Amino acid sequence: MSNNTDTVPESYPMNSGDGTNSYTENSYFQKAATNVVKAKIDDVIAEKLDVKKNSSTSESTFRLADLGCSVGPNTFLTMHSHTMQNIIDVVQHKYQSQGLASHMPEFQVFFNDHASNDFNTLFASLPQRRSYFATRVPGSFHDRLFPESSLHFVHSSYALQWLSKLLEELLNKNSAAWNKGRVHYASAPDEVAQAYTDQFAKDITTFLDCRAKELVVGGLMVLIMPGIPNGIHRSSAPTGMIFDFLGLCLIDMAKEGLISEAQVNTFNLPVYVASPKEMTQLVETNGCFNIERMETTQPRARVDGISGQALTKHLRAGMEGIISKHFGTKIIDELFDRFSKKQQESFNLLESKYNVGTQLFMVLKRI
Ligand code: SAH
Repeated sequence: MSNNTDTVPESYPMNSGDGTNSYTENSYFQKAATNVVKAKIDDVIAEKLDVKKNSSTSESTFRLADLGCSVGPNTFLTMHSHTMQNIIDVVQHKYQSQGLASHMPEFQVFFNDHASNDFNTLFASLPQRRSYFATRVPGSFHDRLFPESSLHFVHSSYALQWLSKLLEELLNKNSAAWNKGRVHYASAPDEVAQAYTDQFAKDITTFLDCRAKELVVGGLMVLIMPGIPNGIHRSSAPTGMIFDFLGLCLIDMAKEGLISEAQVNTFNLPVYVASPKEMTQLVETNGCFNIERMETTQPRARVDGISGQALTKHLRAGMEGIISKHFGTKIIDELFDRFSKKQQESFNLLESKYNVGTQLFMVLKRI
């Protein structure tokens, strides 16, 4: 079933459990992101989901997948009052309002993440009162996860920015894309950015190919990820600045001999921030989906003052796994202390960058 056998997908699980540095306690931005898109998702289901077609088949189960679900509680908070449960509520309402109540399907939600994800914490926080059957699906979404034409709705929030692997050119001293002294492409030369762009394009192409097989015709896919508006330089996006700060902290630590310079040179964060324009191009090349929505939004519009500490903890929850895999666990506390100071020094600058859309929201329909 694999159409991606030549690469071994890397996995970077979010911090597990529910301690102060866990992803559970620190998925603040993701939650804010979800609040902003909730109404948009409701509209899309109301306008775009064809329940008449579903009810005319013998199929009596409506299957939804949350790809890159992580450990929550956002997933469940999300699911219960916002995304997955909300999607089901809206779908149910649509059946009723179209006189199809007697054809109401049962609902099954598939929670997907890498096999190394802390599914135990996730499933332990599953609300008891829910109107769906819950199933875990371990594995990379850069590969097939479901049988052909078996899904009706796909949701994925803040997961598609993770690249499936590190980019070889970035490590090659003889390449123009050698990313010496940096850990990301935001402020790097164009050759480095291009290497990231190429890997992202490959990953999204594979993702779309797999989902095209798995979704029924008419099925909807809601994808939310960090984004950058068309025409904005990569170094001006807040996400880029944050990764730059992290890189600067690592370089300082190398200068002080806490880690080696070679370690920094061989480390690159496999995270990409896409624009609507490039996503549109990738979807159009794939050819299996109609673009129903494609826009950058401002996820923090309804969130009041976020502290720098929350930002540091958020970053740590998401990045500690991959950083300690490369540098070891010993440097983590020191690194994030330094990051915290660095971003405090530049917090006003960072805040001012947030006036551009930092979230890419898209809805695709299988045609
Ligand atoms: N959707 C949640 C979690 C976002 S964190 C939320 O919005 O809060 C991103 C998650 O994506 C992580 O748990 C990570 O393990 C997962 N992820 C990244 N790449 C993946 C892949 N190729 N396949 C499956 N899950 C992946």
